[in-house]
Amino acid sequence: MNQSITQSFSISFTYKVHFDKDIFDVDNGLMAGLFQSKFKPKVLFVIDEGVYTAHPSLVKKITDYSNHHQTYTLAGSPLVLPGGEQAKNDSSILQQVLDKINEYDIDRHSYVVAIGGGAILDMAGMASTIAHRGVRHIRIPTTVLAQNDSGVGVKNGVNAYGKKNYLGAFAPPYAVINDFTFLPTLDDRDWRGGISEAVKVALIKDKDFFVWIKENAKKLAARDMEAMEYLIYRCAEMHLDHISGGDPFELGSSRPLDFGHWAAHKLEQLTNYELRHGEAVAIGIALDTTYSYLQNRISKEDLIQVIELFFDLGFDIYIEEVADPQVIKGLEEFQQHLGGILTIMLLESVGKGVEVHEMDAELIRKTVTQLKAFQESSRPIAL
Ligand code: NAD
Repeated sequence: MNQSITQSFSISFTYKVHFDKDIFDVDNGLMAGLFQSKFKPKVLFVIDEGVYTAHPSLVKKITDYSNHHQTYTLAGSPLVLPGGEQAKNDSSILQQVLDKINEYDIDRHSYVVAIGGGAILDMAGMASTIAHRGVRHIRIPTTVLAQNDSGVGVKNGVNAYGKKNYLGAFAPPYAVINDFTFLPTLDDRDWRGGISEAVKVALIKDKDFFVWIKENAKKLAARDMEAMEYLIYRCAEMHLDHISGGDPFELGSSRPLDFGHWAAHKLEQLTNYELRHGEAVAIGIALDTTYSYLQNRISKEDLIQVIELFFDLGFDIYIEEVADPQVIKGLEEFQQHLGGILTIMLLESVGKGVEVHEMDAELIRKTVTQLKAFQESSRPIAL
């Protein structure tokens, strides 16, 4: 026989990203209203230990809320697990979520609700995606970075073989609820960290948003809630637009939203994850922006604006690991992760990205020297 059958179908995904406050207050019906089936679904809550410690009444609130609304049944007590990168590095943590999914017979009409930072959401999303080939997952992000970026998208995963996100799957969540009342307990590093993802998306897509961030940098650094709520909303909106309008499951070679990330991922690994993801992204963006300037792609004024913004927000744009010759390997790993041709986002101007397919090692070294000079003088001088 010499025949073939062409199979073709498409699936459309829809999910809502809600922005709210006090979602476990019994008078708030948002969460309870997400479960609309005729029978009561089972819900397994997975909570980031950092959130649990900072919000000690959370488990009681969830229990009271669930008993009050009765639209779902709790699958045991909420599972509290270590947050931060450990959640993605230690495979026994993923296993614990899978064990509970099995123990409580969470099926494809049941839910895993993860509450926490980007790391625990990535890990719990991964567990939900592989159990029964996919049970429904709801994300309740509790860091700035998870609310404006990592928690609203379609990627789940854990680290393996010393590489970020080596194991993972694309699976849209059933819903996302950004509850701003979690944010005040973040330490300064995690409050600030997520702002770098907003700078990223503004730099490659929206000059007006970049100008807004610059005008509000001092407020954001001083933990002004109103400014932060707008930053999160606008950044999440741009992120969602990008996913639906482009290549949601990254089938091509290009990952525009990973501007600054080839170096960032490597720096996280080289610092043993001491550097937060958002902090690493700030350095990666400063590096690729300075590189863009040294390649005559952007003006000196644009470069100065970007570097000044990072200083105003309180970021370091250079640490000693940036000069580690291993950093350049990040390019290779970045390409390996996706396959295809190397595609790196650089800047054409503030608000406009441009993709390139090679980076010059000597110019990267020059860029690193320049970043060090900026950091040492706390200003974009010595150009
Ligand atoms: P994180 O998840 O590492 O959390 C940082 C720390 O904050 C942890 O110690 C955590 O316990 C604590 N924490 C969380 N919420 C808190 C709160 N409200 N109060 C007090 N402490 C709290 O940090 P992150 O920046 O949210 O996420 C980083 C992770 O996100 C990385 O693993 C990164 O690779 C991933 N990420 C994923 C995507 C994606 O598309 N899936 C995109 C970007 C980043």
